Amino acid sequence: MKIDHKLLINKIHLLSFETQKELASTFLRFQEYYESPYFKDKIFTLEEFTEWYVNNSQKGIETGEFTYCSDWNGFNIPSRILEPFYAGKFDPLSDAEKSFLDIFKNVSGSFYIIGVHLQTKNPDALLEHEIAHGLFTTNPGYKEQVLAVISQFDVEPVKEKLRSKGGYHEDVLDDEVHAYSLDEENEMSIPAELSQDIRVLFEQYYENI
Ligand SMILES: [Zn+2]
Repeated sequence: MKIDHKLLINKIHLLSFETQKELASTFLRFQEYYESPYFKDKIFTLEEFTEWYVNNSQKGIETGEFTYCSDWNGFNIPSRILEPFYAGKFDPLSDAEKSFLDIFKNVSGSFYIIGVHLQTKNPDALLEHEIAHGLFTTNPGYKEQVLAVISQFDVEPVKEKLRSKGGYHEDVLDDEVHAYSLDEENEMSIPAELSQDIRVLFEQYYENI
């Protein structure tokens, strides 16, 4: 498996994978330790996750199958998520997880990791969504302004849709509302005015980096 790594912008590292399956299976436990509604902050095996996901995610419930590796196109985690993995709490690690950890073992300070794959139909929108997550975490001024904009809208219906996907903890819902707002073709029913306001902020900050 080939993982392409580069420092995209200040503190935001981009990993590109050739296939969606390689991307999703490599990121799975890092991502779900970060933001799963059930496994956040827990130590778990792939088998435990698979069983839970089939019974609790939207696609899993619909199909009875483990659809994780086709459900998700982009991934994003802050670097602190790697700590329990380096500390041996997730034992055993898969070969892909070891390769992932090797990439960052000499990077110091806090940073953000985003992951995409090359099979997606809209790579620019995917990358932008993930960069938005990176900015939200690494740039407190951006986060503050984004939250102020979101608070002016009723985003509860959007959050309900996000919850039903089975991949998001309450703690990341505002960040997701923000990132989905950048994609005009999203299926989240985001108010058009909210999308416009977030787009203005994103471009302001992104251009200044
Ligand atoms: Zn997202």
